[in-house]
Amino acid sequence: MLIIGTGFGGVAAAHDLLAHGVTDVTVLEAAPRLGGTWHYNRYPGAACDVPSSFYSYSFAQRRDWSRFCSPQAEILGYLDSVAKEYGVTQHVITDAHVTGCHWDDQTRTWAVTSHDSNDVETTRSADAIVLATGQLNQPALPQLDGLDDFAGHSFHSARWDHGYDLTGKRVAVIGTGATSVQFVPEIAPEVERLTVFQRTGNWILPRKNKPYSRTVAFLLRSVPAAHRLWRWVMSWYLGSLTAMIRHPRTLGLLGRAWSVAFMRGQLKDHDVRRKAWPDYTFGCKRVLFSSAFLPALQRPNVELVTEPITRMTPAGPQTADGRVHEVDCVIFGTGFRAQDFMFPMEIIGAGGHSLREEWSAGPKAHLGITVPGFPSMFLLYGPNTNTSGGSMIFFLEAQAAYVRKALELIRDRGAAALDVRVEVAGTSDRKVQERFAGTAWTQCDSWYRNESGRIVSNWPGYMRQYAADTRVVDPGDFTLIR
Ligand code: NAP
Repeated sequence: MLIIGTGFGGVAAAHDLLAHGVTDVTVLEAAPRLGGTWHYNRYPGAACDVPSSFYSYSFAQRRDWSRFCSPQAEILGYLDSVAKEYGVTQHVITDAHVTGCHWDDQTRTWAVTSHDSNDVETTRSADAIVLATGQLNQPALPQLDGLDDFAGHSFHSARWDHGYDLTGKRVAVIGTGATSVQFVPEIAPEVERLTVFQRTGNWILPRKNKPYSRTVAFLLRSVPAAHRLWRWVMSWYLGSLTAMIRHPRTLGLLGRAWSVAFMRGQLKDHDVRRKAWPDYTFGCKRVLFSSAFLPALQRPNVELVTEPITRMTPAGPQTADGRVHEVDCVIFGTGFRAQDFMFPMEIIGAGGHSLREEWSAGPKAHLGITVPGFPSMFLLYGPNTNTSGGSMIFFLEAQAAYVRKALELIRDRGAAALDVRVEVAGTSDRKVQERFAGTAWTQCDSWYRNESGRIVSNWPGYMRQYAADTRVVDPGDFTLIR
């Protein structure tokens, strides 16, 4: 068994297999260390905005989180410690950048090719592969004329240049998503001038995220029932966000009203309020959580620019009004190529068929996990499994268990591999897409949708529904390959 990726998904898959007695597990990681998104995203203020008691594995609960939503270092430390504690670490091979996975119809195995940083190629054989590369791992840069002409310094938020001192610099931040709202308040007091380029305003809800008070920390640490109750409350809180998105004309209006009240209270500067205000349905794009972002935009050294950027000049971004914004540094908070999933990796399944062709109309997979024609290939955090109101870790655990159960089915039936039936994958995809009807997700553009408007990233429902759908691996859904 070969797992690709050591984020929360890869570690969950390896843990589940090891816990069920499968020892022939290799986990390949392109980076020099385990961690996935929590290794790469080290920007100032990087933290999770999902409560830690729920943004953690059910099998490895901690009662000593420093705060409601943990910072990046604490989360990465947690993932490290879980991988060590459950014996995953010794199965990990780092510096192994996978470039291709080829299914061999004769041997009924996958050949997985990787390159290390010295470009030495290695090919490994596996009965089954788990692609745990996630959706948010490839930084996206804007397609701007003159991007390479910029004479100053630049970097993407997910590749933060900690060697570059921002103190006293004129800095441009492009993008105002979940990432930027975390780092803008951190860097604003340091820089001489900060120009924040916003393409679309956001619905924002409060998040102070101070360390737990002594009493709360003591209660959570010392009273297991208090911690269990807290985790249960968090699951309902997250579910309520999904409910607001699923029902934009009723519950969504409550979420909107909460956000309006909060944003009005924070946005004292009327010009900034006008510019920052979102003009789409609450919950369509990701709702952001920050009590520090809007105050940062109103600092005297910060300017919010909503004129579209037309090109990059050697001096800085130029906007549609002809203004050139001269800066020393540009920070791209422009998100990820979420719909590339594992690409540019070359994935060739049965009959020499490529996954790129299979997904030419948009990525899709049965329960986000299996794709017809790609035997014993399993995706974690695959198409339609992102959540806007839940914890990805909950989904990843459900997927890891599903993969293990599928492998047990292969073993128990004496088969070599399994392949999801075309009609099963087609039906489940249709049902998933139908469930988006009437939800907030369909009411604006976002990174959840592809060019044709199809929602390819998100799960349309609640966490518990995904858990129910993936609890059992139905043998009738698959062709067993002997
Ligand atoms: P993002 O949500 O995709 O935001 C990218 C931002 O860049 C948006 O404001 C976008 O504007 C803007 N943008 C993109 N291309 C642009 C262009 N050509 N010109 C001007 N603006 C442009 O990316 P992100 O903030 O990195 O977050 C990605 C996802 O990561 C989040 O949705 C979330 O799921 C996850 N995340 C989670 C946490 C957490 O705490 N759990 C923290 C950070 C990130 P438009 O809105 O107009 O597209």
